[in-house]
Amino acid sequence: MIEFKNVSLTYPNGHQGLKNINVKINPGEFIVVVGLSGAGKSTFIRSINQLVKPTDGELLIDGKNTLAYKERELKNLRKNIGMIFQNYNLVNRMSVLRNVLTGRLGHMGTLKSLLGLFSQEDKELAISNLQRVGIEEKAYVRADQLSGGQQQRVSIARALTQKPKYILADEPVASLDPPTSHVVMRDLKKINQELGITTIVNLHFIDMAMEYADRIIGMRAGEIVFDGPVSTVNEKT
Ligand code: ADP
Ligand code: ADP
Repeated sequence: MIEFKNVSLTYPNGHQGLKNINVKINPGEFIVVVGLSGAGKSTFIRSINQLVKPTDGELLIDGKNTLAYKERELKNLRKNIGMIFQNYNLVNRMSVLRNVLTGRLGHMGTLKSLLGLFSQEDKELAISNLQRVGIEEKAYVRADQLSGGQQQRVSIARALTQKPKYILADEPVASLDPPTSHVVMRDLKKINQELGITTIVNLHFIDMAMEYADRIIGMRAGEIVFDGPVSTVNEKT
């Protein structure tokens, strides 16, 4: 469970990224955060894994205030959170399989993978996650030989290989064409349904949000201006 209690975040230059956010995210939910560019969606997601830190309020994860986390707890938190980015963040010169394995190998994962420091079990997990997103036949291809949509599916397989409790996806389809965007959104949704991983996805298209979300959080200028199940969007807006 993730809970924001009166959370604000002011950047060092004085810009307010989040303004008094109050929201509870329950286990297994599939949430889409929508809003224009600059609305605060990335700041919201990045505050959960503490890439940026709230300057006010409390951000509780599994009941514990993240602001009080020690180094080890922070590492643990990040292990529990699979991150998916707009630009995939793969290591281009490595194979797909090695990229996915870095999800399992944690600290210095890229180096460990290059050195071949992984077990048969790690490898099987990585392959099964590539199967889950339908690209196991690309396991031994260099990451930069893949299309954008395939690269994003590799990044999903990498996140899954962390065995995460949460998946946070920051504009995962913003660089993809519409048909490919749907493939990626369907994968994220399927994983949420099959594995029950709590998932938060940032999108800037309301139509796509409506198609996949169970619950929509709308943001504008650092504030939450809408929060409810998809079925309530029309009557409230
Ligand atoms: P997006 O709209 O896709 O979130 P931005 O262009 O706003 O992308 O931001 C790109 C990067 O620049 C992010 O890492 C963000 O944190 C940083 N950034 C955005 N606005 C500012 C700013 N006013 N000062 C410093 N860094 C910023
Ligand atoms: P979104 O993801 O909805 O595009 P962001 O969370 O990236 O929005 O940004 C929210 C606001 O915070 C924007 O006005 C952006 O310029 C600002 N911002 C983002 N990162 C930084 C930063 N590192 N320093 C200062 N301002 C930032």
